[in-house]
Amino acid sequence: MIAILKKNADESAVSHLVSWIEKKGLEAHVSQGTDELIIGLVGDTTKIDPFLLESMDIVERVQRVSEPFKKANRKFHPTDTVVDCGFGVKIGGGNFQVIAGPCSVEGENLIRIARRVKAAGATMLRGGAYKPRTSPYAYQGMGAEGLDLLCEARAELDMPIVTEIMDPRDVQLFLDKKIDVMQIGARNAQNFPLLKEVGKTQTPVLLKRGMSGTIDELLMAAEYIMSEGNDNVILCERGIRTFETRTRNTFDLNAVPVLHYLSHLPVVADPSHATGYTRYVEPMALAATAAGADGLEIEVHDDPSHAWSDGAQALTPDMFDDVMRRIQIIREAITPEAGA
Ligand code: PEP
Ligand code: MN
Repeated sequence: MIAILKKNADESAVSHLVSWIEKKGLEAHVSQGTDELIIGLVGDTTKIDPFLLESMDIVERVQRVSEPFKKANRKFHPTDTVVDCGFGVKIGGGNFQVIAGPCSVEGENLIRIARRVKAAGATMLRGGAYKPRTSPYAYQGMGAEGLDLLCEARAELDMPIVTEIMDPRDVQLFLDKKIDVMQIGARNAQNFPLLKEVGKTQTPVLLKRGMSGTIDELLMAAEYIMSEGNDNVILCERGIRTFETRTRNTFDLNAVPVLHYLSHLPVVADPSHATGYTRYVEPMALAATAAGADGLEIEVHDDPSHAWSDGAQALTPDMFDDVMRRIQIIREAITPEAGA
C-alpha cells in the first residue's frame, strides 16, 4: 500500500504519520516522487484501514500495490535508484557503467586484462574467484587468493571490483576484503539464505536473473535482499534458457524496459553469458545499450583459447576497445547529454 501525500504536507505531520504506521507494526518508507511525497507501507497492511488513512489531512490518496515486491517496486520509489559502487562509480538514474574482466581470476594475467579494460573505458573490474561450475570436476576458482588478486588490481587501478559470492558463509570474508560489489550468479538467484545474508550488509549486490527465472522472480530475489535492509541492488539480465540452441542462452532484452517500468533499481545487461559466443557479444552489447540498460557486464580475456572458463564468449582487449567506442556512440544517440 502507498500513501501519496498532499503537496503542502509539512515535515512534522509526515513524521507523525510515519510513527502512526510504525505503531501498527508496519514499516514506512518515505520517498520523494517527481512532485509529491510518497509513503510506502510494508508489512501486514490488513492492519491499516485504507479509508482512515485516506481521510487524514495530509494524504492525497491511497493506492494498493498488487505486486508482491514492495521495496523494489517503482510505485514505492518513483525516482531511479542510484547505487554507489565506490571510487566515485555510480550506476542508475542516467549513470551508465561498464563492468569488464575475465570470467575467472586465473593469476597474474588479471592485472594485464584490468589495465586494458580500464584504458578502454570500463569503470568496474570483474573476475570470479568462486566459480559455479556444472561439473564438480571443472575448475572451481582460486578462492580467497583470487579475491586478493582482485584487491591488488583495485589498488593499482582505483576502480571497484565485482566478484561472485556463492556461499553465505563467505560474506564475512567478502566484507573483510572490502569487495565493492558482490555478484549473485544465475544459479543462486533463488538461494534465499544467500540473498538474506548479503541483505544484511550494505555492499552493493549485482543480482543476476536465474536461468529459468521470470522477471517477477528476479524482482522477488531483489526483495529478499532489500527486506533485510540492503537497498543497493543492481539487477542483471544475462539471458534465459529457452528451446533455442544456437546461443548459450536467449538474451531477453525485453527485460530491460520491463524492469525499468516495474522497478527503480538499476538494470545491467550481460551479453557475454546471454549469447555464449564472442562473435555475438558486440551486437548484443550495442542492442542492450540502445534498450536503455544502465550498464553492461562483458567478459574480456587476453588469451581466450586458454581461458580457464568461458573462453568461447570472451572478447580480446582489442575487440573490447572497439565495442567501447561503439557503445559510446549509442549512448550519445539515445541520451544526448552522454556526449556532453
Ligand atoms: C559469471 O558472471 O561468470 C557467471 C557465472 O554468470 P551467470 O551466473 O550469469 O552464469
Ligand atoms: Mn563467465
